[in-house]
Amino acid sequence: MQIIKSNKTQFEYDIQAILKSFYPEWEPHMLAPDSHIRDRRILEGEPVMELYFGETEVTLKMLVVLPRLSLEKGLHNFEKEHGESEEAGKLYTWHPAESEGTPAYKNGFKKFFYSALCQATGRTLPWGNLTGIRPTKIAMTMMEQGKSKEEINAYLREMHLVSEEKTKLAIEIAEREQEILSVLHYENGYSLYVGIPFCPTTCLYCSFTSYPISAWKKRVGEYLSALGREIEETARLFQDKILDTVYIGGGTPTSLSAEQLEWLLKKLKDCFDFSTVQEFTVEAGRADSITEEKLRVLYENGVTRISVNPQTMKQETLDLIGRRHTVEQVEEAFRLARRVGFTNINMDMILGLPGETAADVVHTIETIQALAPDELTVHSLAVKRASKLGRWIEENGVTAYNNTDEIMEIAARGAADMGMMPYYLYRQKNMSGNFENVGYAKEEKYGIYNILINEEKQTILALGAGAITKGVFSDDRIERCENVKDVGQYIERIDEMIERKRRLL
Ligand code: SF4
Repeated sequence: MQIIKSNKTQFEYDIQAILKSFYPEWEPHMLAPDSHIRDRRILEGEPVMELYFGETEVTLKMLVVLPRLSLEKGLHNFEKEHGESEEAGKLYTWHPAESEGTPAYKNGFKKFFYSALCQATGRTLPWGNLTGIRPTKIAMTMMEQGKSKEEINAYLREMHLVSEEKTKLAIEIAEREQEILSVLHYENGYSLYVGIPFCPTTCLYCSFTSYPISAWKKRVGEYLSALGREIEETARLFQDKILDTVYIGGGTPTSLSAEQLEWLLKKLKDCFDFSTVQEFTVEAGRADSITEEKLRVLYENGVTRISVNPQTMKQETLDLIGRRHTVEQVEEAFRLARRVGFTNINMDMILGLPGETAADVVHTIETIQALAPDELTVHSLAVKRASKLGRWIEENGVTAYNNTDEIMEIAARGAADMGMMPYYLYRQKNMSGNFENVGYAKEEKYGIYNILINEEKQTILALGAGAITKGVFSDDRIERCENVKDVGQYIERIDEMIERKRRLL
């Protein structure tokens, strides 16, 4: 654990988030004279820096030599520098012009803290001191306030020190999102999410609500009946509203049998009015869950968009990350979906997977290009400490954060070569290389729901284990209500899940 000594407890969240952007493996904690901490790990942690908030100046003193971030080896492939360094013991000073306690003071502090770290580590980060997961939301909000592109550009560059390239990307995506969302019913519309928390097996990096279907086979029926009740009861709350988009995710919904899928789709259509739906997506993410019969059920029930996700086209990596399917199965599932009639198919890929090089990413992109999907979603690997991958990395001593500008560029160029444009973007904590996830699509194939979930422009009613309903109200309030993740608990406490939504909505 890394300790930041301070004379005051303030901005702890921002300090931790910025430090973790540089060093995702760190567990930074702030220790001030007034902190009441009993955790021995914190009390015995390694003091790495000291902050002093004075009346006219703020100082930051480095107490150790910070691990350097090397340009050549990729952002987080760092090596600890040995020997003398001018950074150990170095003092950074800021003279704030703003009064303490104001938003401007906080912004000024974040800029100062981030800039000091850039000097100490020898690197800048692509998204500057922005630590939130939705950088495009800033651009979008400013556009809605009538700000010009130049003003947004200046704000992101000067206030948050975002790179020129990422600033351009954020503004480009926000403009496209605004145009795509113009078809929605803002006043009276909503979207629907349904979660199926089962998958053929659990991937090593998984951080979603997902259980291996073989272990839950006996209770899938019970899960569907509970879900059916939630569908019936909540549909009544939305009788007077317009349903814009529907997304069935999870998990992997196609882990269900063709009969179960048919039952679910019919239940949804019986309870909700689908006549206004502009986009109906089902995640068919895992090739080992796809059959022709299931694809036909989806197609015949009006599903307009599916995902067939390779993540990588390198068999060795697929085996390592526990996907338990072959590259050929992905290709076959994709072709089958085309034959059945799907004209909007997304493919997901992950950058920064353990052991993957730039050449592997080029291979994955070329194999995807040969299939010619309509959308490509490029994720940077996010390693959650609790995931199987987090433990695997620790045990095997592998560097997980090996994503680089070059690799990101290969994916972006690959998407552009397929005639796709970036249309949504979000970030996660602990991402490989502190980059971002970007959705690319051909014109007219943009996934509206993907933008909605990020930009929080419309109420999303979310059903099923682990699903989070977001109420977006006319006074700009956003409130959430979460279903329990555990499938057994969800089944037992279904009345409570329904009641929670009734109260929120
Ligand atoms: S397919 Fe997706 S949801 Fe299922 S285990 Fe893999 S990462 Fe998790």
